[in-house]
Amino acid sequence: MPVNRELQEAAIVSQIPDREEILKLVNRFASNEDFDTIKSFLTAAKAVRSLESFRTMKRANRVRKHCVRCHGVYTDEENTSKSCVIPHLFCSDGRGTGGMGEGGKIYEYEALCCEDVVVEEEGAGNDNYRMRGLGFCLVDRHTEDPEVAAEDHNGENVVPCEIDASGKCTREYLNPNHHSPHFH
Ligand SMILES: [Zn+2]
Ligand SMILES: [Zn+2]
Ligand SMILES: [Zn+2]
Repeated sequence: MPVNRELQEAAIVSQIPDREEILKLVNRFASNEDFDTIKSFLTAAKAVRSLESFRTMKRANRVRKHCVRCHGVYTDEENTSKSCVIPHLFCSDGRGTGGMGEGGKIYEYEALCCEDVVVEEEGAGNDNYRMRGLGFCLVDRHTEDPEVAAEDHNGENVVPCEIDASGKCTREYLNPNHHSPHFH
C-alpha cells in the first residue's frame, strides 16, 4: 500500500484526542507516568502544524472563492454541507386570499422556483410577511464546479454565472434571511 494511502486510512481510524479531552486528562485523570506520553503527543501535533506543507494547506483553505451556485463568496475552511443556502424567489404579483390578518387583508405570493410554496403578507405593501416554516430553496455545500451547480439550475433563483468583461460574475447573491422574501 502506498504510504499516503496508509496514512489516510490510519487518520480515519485513529481516535485523535481533541483539546478539551487533553485538558481534562491532564487536569484530572492522568498519572505522572502518563505525562511523558501526553507531552510527546503535543510535541508531535506542534511539529505537524509547523510543517511548511501544513501552512500551505491552511493558506489554501482561506482563499476566497466564488460559488457558482449561490454566487456568494466562501473559503474551503468554512465550507460545510449547510453553507450554500439559496432562498426561494417569489413572483411580486400578489393576490388576495380573502382572509384577514391583524395587519389587514392577507395577500399571497407564489414561489417561482418551487411548486406549492407561497408566502403570505398581511396587508399589501406592509412588508409584514409570514416567514415561519418557509425554509429555504436549497441548502448544500458551496462549489466551484459548474457541472455540480448545473444539477440545481431552475432558471429562476439557481442560475449559472454571468461573467462581465472584467471576468467578474454579475449574478446577485440572494441573501438568505428569515425576515423577508426575495421577489423577482
Ligand atoms: Zn454557494
Ligand atoms: Zn424554491
Ligand atoms: Zn457566479
